Amino acid sequence: MTLIAAKDVVVSFGSTPALRGADLSASRGEIVAIMGPSGSGKSTLLHSLAGILAPDSGEIWFDGRRVDTMGEPERSTLRRERFGFVFQFGQLVPELTAEENVALPLLLGGQRRAAALRQARAWFERLDLEGLEQRRSGELSGGQAQRVALARGLVCGPEILFADEPTGALDSLTGERVMELLVASAREHGTTVILVTHEPRVAVYADREVIMRDGLVNTLTPDRIGS
Ligand code: ADP
Ligand code: ADP
Repeated sequence: MTLIAAKDVVVSFGSTPALRGADLSASRGEIVAIMGPSGSGKSTLLHSLAGILAPDSGEIWFDGRRVDTMGEPERSTLRRERFGFVFQFGQLVPELTAEENVALPLLLGGQRRAAALRQARAWFERLDLEGLEQRRSGELSGGQAQRVALARGLVCGPEILFADEPTGALDSLTGERVMELLVASAREHGTTVILVTHEPRVAVYADREVIMRDGLVNTLTPDRIGS
């Protein structure tokens, strides 16, 4: 069953066309990797699907409802209650400890501090981060910070996780480890994952790869092109 879909989505930034009629859908529990050259519209499509950016035309659907025509308060509730986000390395709040960073979505959702921190701490064991709870982001390695960001994206138990280059700036071994953790935790909870990556090594962890070119989604995988 389709959980989320973009239909014929058009987005321009001034005179620059970013999406020229992009289509993409994902089912519950499916992991979809969006690949393609720099500037092809990957991030713009991700942001449109996530209800962060309103398209010029086309439709965004989530769980049977139109997202692009919702008001901002309704979209913001959707993002907070049902979506999770992991963006590139460097997005942790430097003033907060690692556990406070993970707890942040729970605190913003109105949970009490003690309960939020308790839930956040459970992720440190799950993601092999024990002992790092009190560190600030500047005191974490790239791989550790990326796993903390992943925990923050999953802590609310989202139905869908949007990840933009979740392994960016990581060496390949650490990147693969982050993907294994993402896939394992998604599998356990049936979370849909939509991730943007330029690394084929990362995309192999997805159930399905799509390739963007010039603001359009080409659903043929490289293996199938020309066969
Ligand atoms: P990708 O993620 O594949 O690198 P993007 O979605 O970031 O591609 O960008 C698609 C096109 O839109 C590019 O030409 C880019 O320069 C342009 N673009 C993206 N975001 C903005 C923005 N905020 N302002 C102006 N142009 C933008
Ligand atoms: P709840 O409705 O309380 O989130 P769940 O059984 O869905 O109950 O989740 C149990 C625990 O697993 C919670 O602490 C939740 O944060 C965590 N969890 C939620 N989503 C994921 C996920 N995708 N991967 C791993 N753990 C998750």
